[in-house]
Amino acid sequence: MNLYEQRKDRKSKTRRRRQRHRDKGLCLDCTSKALFGRRFCSVHLAKARTKAKQEYDWRIANGVCVSCGIPKEEKRSETKCIACASKAASKERRRREMQHTSPHALYAGIRVRLESERAA
Ligand SMILES: [Zn+2]
Ligand SMILES: [Zn+2]
Repeated sequence: MNLYEQRKDRKSKTRRRRQRHRDKGLCLDCTSKALFGRRFCSVHLAKARTKAKQEYDWRIANGVCVSCGIPKEEKRSETKCIACASKAASKERRRREMQHTSPHALYAGIRVRLESERAA
């Protein structure tokens, strides 16, 4: 097996492990139980957050869109490029529309489903 194949093999193993952990509700980075509704345990969730924050700060400092990572339009003071900002705006609009259609009932439905899956 050459180096490239070894790397590919390791990657697919990681992917399989992560898939297995996700199915069982375990943290993707260790064998602890993931927090409810999350993909990581409290330790790795904090680590993932720190990493995301560092990435975010780096993008701000380098004038890169925090959402897609491409350089923003010149002199743009927003944190996102024009494309991402308009995407986020339409998502936000949809979210507001959803709230009109009884969000509590929707959320309760998802919660019950998740909990019954977990019990099974
Ligand atoms: Zn973990
Ligand atoms: Zn963008």
